[in-house]
This record gives sequence, C-alpha cells and structure tokens, in this order.
Amino acid sequence: MNPEERESIRRNIEDVRRRIAEAAASAGRSGDITLIAVTKTIPHERIIEAIDAGITDLGENRVQELTDKIGAVDREVNWHMIGHLQKNKVKYIIEKVKLIHSVDSEELCDEIQKRAERAGRIVDVLVQVNVSGEESKFGIPPERTEEFLRRVSEKSNIRVRGLMTIAPLVDDPEKTRPYFRKMYEIFIDIKRKTINNISMDYLSMGMSNDFEVAIQEGSNMVRIGTAIFGKRK
Ligand SMILES: *Cc1c(COP(=O)(O)O)cnc(C)c1O
Repeated sequence: MNPEERESIRRNIEDVRRRIAEAAASAGRSGDITLIAVTKTIPHERIIEAIDAGITDLGENRVQELTDKIGAVDREVNWHMIGHLQKNKVKYIIEKVKLIHSVDSEELCDEIQKRAERAGRIVDVLVQVNVSGEESKFGIPPERTEEFLRRVSEKSNIRVRGLMTIAPLVDDPEKTRPYFRKMYEIFIDIKRKTINNISMDYLSMGMSNDFEVAIQEGSNMVRIGTAIFGKRK
C-alpha cells in the first residue's frame, strides 16, 4: 500500500466521523454513535490501516470472509456479522463476533440458542427488520417484529440488543428518511414495552449513502464501507 492510499483511508475516516458528529448535532442528538467499518472485499493491509487510524468495530457480511479476516487481522477489535446468516454457519462465528446484526428467522434463533448453550455463552444479536418490504431484502416485517421479539425473548442464551435495517438503495438519501423514521418508531415502541431479555440499546441503520439521514432519525450504529475504503471492485 502506498502512502497516498494510507492517507486517503485516514482522511476518509476523519471525514466520516465529522459528518456523523454534524448529523447528530443537526438533529439535536447527543450520545454515542458506533461507527462500524465494513470491510467486505477489502484487503487485510487496508483494514489494519483503518484500525491504526482508530477504527474499533469491523463488519463483514459473509461467514467465510469474516473468519478469514479474524485470523489474518491480528488486532483487538470487535467483529460484527452484518449479512444474512445461514443456519449451518452459525457454529463458525458464534464465539468470534461481538454482535450478529442479521437475525431474521426463528430457525436461525433456534440454531444460535443451541450453539450458544453448548458453548456456555450469551450471544448478543440485533433483529433485522425489512422496513421497506422489498422482496429482495431479508428481515422480519415491521408488523410482526414485536411478536417475533417476544418469541426470541424466551431463548435464554440469546440477548437481543436492538434492531437493524437496510434502507432501499436510492440516489437521493432523503428518500430513505421515512423508512428510518418508521424504524425508530418501532425501536421506541418496543423499548417502552420493556420485554424481558430484550433491550433496545442499538439501532443499526445507515450506510455510506444514507448514514446522515439515518442518524438524524435516531440511528446509533452505522455500517460504512465505501465512504472509508472507496468503491469496492
Ligand atoms: C456492504 C454493507 C454495508 C456498507 O455499505 P457501503 O454502502 O459500502 O457503506 C452496510 N451494511 C451491510 C449489511 C452491507 O452488506
């Protein structure tokens, strides 16, 4: 990696942090917003550069790539599984990730419960909500989210920490606002209901294209790849 590439990762991270702070301030919000650098397809040396520039949380959407990188990137960081997770792959990541963002079915919960129990662990997860209703997207429909959470709440080795969503991909990020707003409503509604074993600490929403809108609407965890590492090949 040449010095310019190195410099550009550092500059991008600074830039993203400033934009996060400005978006929060513009909405009169205070409190921590976790920045997750999404490293899919990104080579190890660039990831290490980002960590050396202060990144503490990394996100991957494929199990194989995630486990490869955990092995190769020899740093104390938090790994997040942010992509659709197949049941048969739960065992490879259950003891390695800080948070699974993409819990989207009861079968997956059963598997996580089984593996977590066997490993003697409590696993932190977010429930993915398909807020736009797009068929191409994974996630629980908004109107079934509470019912789903009530069922997950019975699983003693799973601790739900919040919700995650992916907004529709649009040119104008302003168009994502209604979806993020709706997510925040669900988040707050469930928080108020205080369901046993379910805590609404994290609302994971916002990517390179729309994170400022997501933060203005209540996100406290953003998942950003392109704006840090540049366009993926
Ligand atoms: C790739 C990915 C991101 C980051 O996307 P960018 O547009 O590159 O910031 C965030 N969340 C999920 C689930 C992803 O798969």
